[in-house]
Amino acid sequence: MQVREKLRILADAAKYDASCASSGGPKRDSLGTGGIGSTDKGMGICHAYTPDGRCVSLLKILLTNQCLYDCAYCINRRSSNVPRAKFTVDEIVQLTLDFYKRNYIEGLFLSSGIVKSHDETMEEMTRVAKSLREEHKFGGYIHLKLIAGASPELIAEAGRYADRVSVNVELPREDTLATLAPEKRADVIRGSMAKVTLGIEEGKEKNAPKFAPAGQSTQMIVGADGADDRDILEASAQLYSGYRLRRVYYSAFSPIPDSTARLPLKAAPLMREHRLYQADWMMRFYGFEAKEIVTGEDGLLDLAIDPKLAWALAHRDDFPIDVNTADRELLLRVPGLGVKSIDRILMARRHRNLGLDDVARLTRSLNKCRPFLIARDWRPLADVENLRAKLAPEPAQLDLFA
Ligand code: SF4
Repeated sequence: MQVREKLRILADAAKYDASCASSGGPKRDSLGTGGIGSTDKGMGICHAYTPDGRCVSLLKILLTNQCLYDCAYCINRRSSNVPRAKFTVDEIVQLTLDFYKRNYIEGLFLSSGIVKSHDETMEEMTRVAKSLREEHKFGGYIHLKLIAGASPELIAEAGRYADRVSVNVELPREDTLATLAPEKRADVIRGSMAKVTLGIEEGKEKNAPKFAPAGQSTQMIVGADGADDRDILEASAQLYSGYRLRRVYYSAFSPIPDSTARLPLKAAPLMREHRLYQADWMMRFYGFEAKEIVTGEDGLLDLAIDPKLAWALAHRDDFPIDVNTADRELLLRVPGLGVKSIDRILMARRHRNLGLDDVARLTRSLNKCRPFLIARDWRPLADVENLRAKLAPEPAQLDLFA
């Protein structure tokens, strides 16, 4: 099979993996080594390669879409009737270099189905990264998706050459993982994540060899099992604290051909994925705990409004708060106020008593935060009618994610 045809199949097969962003990688200086590339090209957000070669940041491919496993939610599962292909190590190395030199990409995202064994697959993936770094002095970004259960030596080697590594937890609940991916084991996945966490910590020590300097991430499929958003956020919170992950990525389930009756027939709404990302942000940057974010009794985030606004509306008694005296933690809970706006407010109020005009200049969403704030010349009405309706986005904006 021609490399071009392999690329068509294996780039398409990789598009289901959301855990691909190059932000957070420190500069890998290739200039002193006479190599090519640098990760220091701004916030390189990963976009999957399109087969016609247009406008890509990372070459996002699988080593192979052959797989020994039969995970029900996966298009590449053993029983799936899709065309199969497999790259050689040299083919991936050459493609990466060619695309890089043509300025199509800033780096490589490499994942794979499992062929022969965990270790043989992982070993081939690692050889790609090793060849790029050592033989070709490639300084661009590399994200390797680790095969859960691969040997510690191979994980260590992957971490040495990759900027970021990730192991997919796949599903938020361990019981449904056992049902939908019977060959996968949650303890094996978490064991591999723990090895990566340890490698990253050791890599930070003085004079230690670098290990995945852009950290570790993972991906969860949303809507393939019965997990609600509360389950998902609690699983994420445990992953962040237990394995110090940089990111958890959420991927809305979409039905795949010939799938089992155990899977839903309908795709999960993209808006659900979007709301989970917003909720995830609240945990990482606004000090919310997973268990308090979902306010509805059904355990699901409100699709019509963002979760910070939903939380504030469900806790109206905690508001309004005084923008001139409230501490940072409280301000972080105000809808429409982000970290940068709050830093500006804290700085500005050292010098003067802030009025609503000041808040308007220091923030980007005055309409959203105004009902929850007191300022020098502003106090919202105690009970604004239809506040939710007033602050919800237009239906047309929601349709974008339907
Ligand atoms: S192991 Fe990975 S590639 Fe193979 S079926 Fe499961 S999810 Fe798909």
